[in-house]
Amino acid sequence: MLAVKVIQEQNIEVIGLNFKSQFFGLTDVEKYERQLNIKIKTIDITKPYLQILLHPKHGYGKNANPCIDCHAYMIERAVEIMHKMGAKFVFTGEVLNERPFSQNFKSLSIVGAQGGDEGYLVRPLSAKFLKKSIPEQTGILDRDKLYAISGRSRKKQIELAEKYNIRDFPQPGGGCVLTDPSFSKRVFSLKRAGVTDLRQYMLIKIGRHIWLDDSVKIVVTRHKEDDDALGVLLRSSDTVYEFPEIPGPRAAAFSYKRGRHFPDDVISRILAGYVGKKQRPPFVINKKRGRKIVRTYSIDKNIESSETAGLYKWKE
Ligand code: SF4
Repeated sequence: MLAVKVIQEQNIEVIGLNFKSQFFGLTDVEKYERQLNIKIKTIDITKPYLQILLHPKHGYGKNANPCIDCHAYMIERAVEIMHKMGAKFVFTGEVLNERPFSQNFKSLSIVGAQGGDEGYLVRPLSAKFLKKSIPEQTGILDRDKLYAISGRSRKKQIELAEKYNIRDFPQPGGGCVLTDPSFSKRVFSLKRAGVTDLRQYMLIKIGRHIWLDDSVKIVVTRHKEDDDALGVLLRSSDTVYEFPEIPGPRAAAFSYKRGRHFPDDVISRILAGYVGKKQRPPFVINKKRGRKIVRTYSIDKNIESSETAGLYKWKE
């Protein structure tokens, strides 16, 4: 947001780009359009992003965040869009040395070089530490009005925010879940199992994930939102375990090796362990494929979730 204000101060029209995937992206775009008085174009990079996530040339940050490759990809796309729209340059809110992995001098150079037309990329908040960009050389941008901010202290940014009357910052990276240690474990578990199916990576934001061994996992829903989100991603060939008498929880089972059978009894007992005591009818669990009931199980209604914990191996 600060970078937008700095550029607008030079009477330059700004168009925002919101790169969105299953892991990040602004959701309240209109709010920021109003606050910044700009139009924001949302670009869905869910599909191409999976390759970046699985094979980042420059590795991961502290968790499953491939920030250098991610930035480079976004810049590459932004430069493409710039050329298509006839815009003059691309800028970001990156600050030199603000993040040890992705915003040191080397990383910023990699992002610029890998992202395509390096000369068109401007970082208005740290520009004075960096090479003169094409818009600065051609006089579109006045370098003297750009900044020399570096480091992790946010002091200068806070002063600028006060100057521009900005109180409500979006989270960095659009609240990227790849910086979250527990989500990252889910990503790396799938990667270790050799999973390359995009849908499996879309499932990681839903429910509890329990690995029964190296290649079988169940996703257990916790509430209606989980159930709805799971419903959108399920296919008719998927195996689901559910209670006919109560709305939830549900478990979807996935095998990442051919010919693996699901341990129905274990899955049913795990699922039963997640039903609150007050809710417990005689436990009947249907194993379904699509709408078809494949088998029905009866479970002891006195089962405790702690009892089910010994039946499987947590791998998250
Ligand atoms: S925090 Fe997430 S969205 Fe931001 S650069 Fe890193 S991986 Fe990309």
